[in-house]
Amino acid sequence: MDAEIIAVGSEMLTPQGLDTDSLYLTEKLNNLGIEVRYKTVVGDDHDRLTNAFQAALKRSNLVILTGGLGPTEDDITREVVADVLGRPLREIPEIRSRIEKRFQRLGRDMPPNNLRQARVPEGADWLENPNGTAPGIWLEQQGTVVILLPGPPWELEAVFESACLSRLARLSGKALIRSRVYKIVGLPESEVDRRIAPIYTAYRNPSTTILAKLGAIEVHLRARAASQEEAELLLNELGDPIEAALGDHIFSTRGESLEEVVGMYLTMKQQTVSVAESCTGGLLSERLTSVPGSSGFFLGGVVCYSNELKVKLAGVPADLIREHGAVSKPVAQALSEGIRTRAGASIGIGITGIAGPSGGTPEKPVGLVFIGLADLRGAVVREFRFPGNRERIRYWASQTALEMIRRRVRDY
Ligand code: ATP
Ligand code: MG
Repeated sequence: MDAEIIAVGSEMLTPQGLDTDSLYLTEKLNNLGIEVRYKTVVGDDHDRLTNAFQAALKRSNLVILTGGLGPTEDDITREVVADVLGRPLREIPEIRSRIEKRFQRLGRDMPPNNLRQARVPEGADWLENPNGTAPGIWLEQQGTVVILLPGPPWELEAVFESACLSRLARLSGKALIRSRVYKIVGLPESEVDRRIAPIYTAYRNPSTTILAKLGAIEVHLRARAASQEEAELLLNELGDPIEAALGDHIFSTRGESLEEVVGMYLTMKQQTVSVAESCTGGLLSERLTSVPGSSGFFLGGVVCYSNELKVKLAGVPADLIREHGAVSKPVAQALSEGIRTRAGASIGIGITGIAGPSGGTPEKPVGLVFIGLADLRGAVVREFRFPGNRERIRYWASQTALEMIRRRVRDY
């Protein structure tokens, strides 16, 4: 069964609006083994929606329309579907009385417009909406299933779960789709692909997608199978050699973020960390403390932007800054050692760099970042040239610091 989603609503064609309903629906459909082949976003316009719906009917045997079921004149989905399929709208007394009761319960007068929502195309089933007035609509015509769902996510999800899921499961048979995500750090996308393309190109099922995210590359495998066990076997068959080819650059296979993985390692090895951040301005602390249970491994840290505070709060010798500049290897090392000692942590991290856009020089260009890591074994400092704008440079710096912690702690 191949599905197609049409999101109806002019607001989703503005910079402010985004069709998120289709993401939810796609996940649910995939779990049933149904692939989404097309998605369309179309404004509240009779002719354009008519065109989009007619095209969908020609090529897909499941068409889901979201939104445009409201009570106002610009909510046209119901009318367009009825016109295209040649099924006139009929008022359903039960929906009418439910809508009237809902307004009574809320102690409000019902605008007559709301009665539009009691009308459904002839021969269609209506799907109760526990969270709103607009019911969903299910109809079948010449082997094609057409589903209309209300646009507000909280309504759409309720209607879909209660009235569509099990019905679609029966129609789609036993197929299901399972996916696995490998998250990779420390290799560029091209290198990831060079290593694994010879492996995955031999498979159509599972399918493989490589995504470049900020600070990490993701490899997504998707297997279609008749059962959970068969899907797992397929994922292992392709996944095992991919894991071998990427080695310890893979930091996550279950969707965890890098900070979560680092938190897990620190907890497991009973180590603590503290940080002295200059150019990242607290971003590393923010990411570490976003992990539930971070009080068990994160002691805290300082944001020491000025030279004075690097000296006062992280114990960096003033001479060192005068001699080498704040953005330098020795200062990164002193930051990591200073904060480690002052906090009494097993690991200290120091970050200093130039995030731009101004402040760069030929010797110290924008993107230059030094990251120091100090522990019982001593201190290491690494020098980086991160690409991109201020935001990206700062994120890369925090990401790389996390990766340095991950590698260090793993070897304890
Ligand atoms: P209502 O009775 O609220 O008018 P409706 O079915 O007519 O319901 P719309 O008018 O199209 O739905 O959308 C109402 C609100 O629902 C939108 O303002 C938007 O916030 C949200 N919404 C609609 N479609 C989507 C979508 N595809 N993804 C995410 N949110 C959506
Ligand atoms: Mg509406």
